[in-house]
Amino acid sequence: MVKAKGLARYRAKRDFSKTDEPSGEHDVGAATRLRFVIQRHAARRLHYDLRLELGGVFKSWAVTKGPSLDPKIKRLAVEVEDHPLDYGDFEGTIPKGEYGGGTVEVWDRGYWAPEGSQSAEQMLRKGELTFALYGVRLKGGWVLVRLRSDRDKSKRVNWLLIKRRDAFARAGAADAALADDRSVASGRSMAEIAAGTGRRARPFMRKGTGRSPPAGTDKSSGSHGRSAQRGRSAQRG
Ligand code: MN
Repeated sequence: MVKAKGLARYRAKRDFSKTDEPSGEHDVGAATRLRFVIQRHAARRLHYDLRLELGGVFKSWAVTKGPSLDPKIKRLAVEVEDHPLDYGDFEGTIPKGEYGGGTVEVWDRGYWAPEGSQSAEQMLRKGELTFALYGVRLKGGWVLVRLRSDRDKSKRVNWLLIKRRDAFARAGAADAALADDRSVASGRSMAEIAAGTGRRARPFMRKGTGRSPPAGTDKSSGSHGRSAQRGRSAQRG
């Protein structure tokens, strides 16, 4: 089968005889909408890996403190190498000593969409990606803003992840989103995943049985536009 392009950096960092992480060779189910996943990763430091499907790969950022629902809080998001789409189903433990050694949990997943008149590719090049998430946990408008690289002497490309103001924002509740810390794919805690116990993760990306859109990720539950506001008002009234 044809390997996805742009994954050379991903593969070069990993020894697939030692890690259970996918090498990008599993068949991924087609989707009419772009998918995203956030993986909670207890590596040397706990962080949250945001992955947005684009051009057949996952554009990826390591969000050091995790996403915040407070629009005043900007969270550092370090750009990392593109990941294969089958990575979105990975939940388990990367062996100690290997790249990214530590436990990985599927913390959120669903669909995403660029917002505005420009394409996602254009906005990424420009360094300001506005988008909406339709996840199990994260919903509504977000923005990724690239920082000027001369702020940091390393070769890292740093971005800020910021919640946009809408019905899903929670002013003053910096880490409200992070309180829910079980896997959305298996219901397991990090400890259960690390121990290899409990239910297996239900796939979202890979072809096969049991693959289905996560509950609560349809457009009406994630939209924050004017029509959705009207929809909510109508439901209340
Ligand atoms: Mn990571």
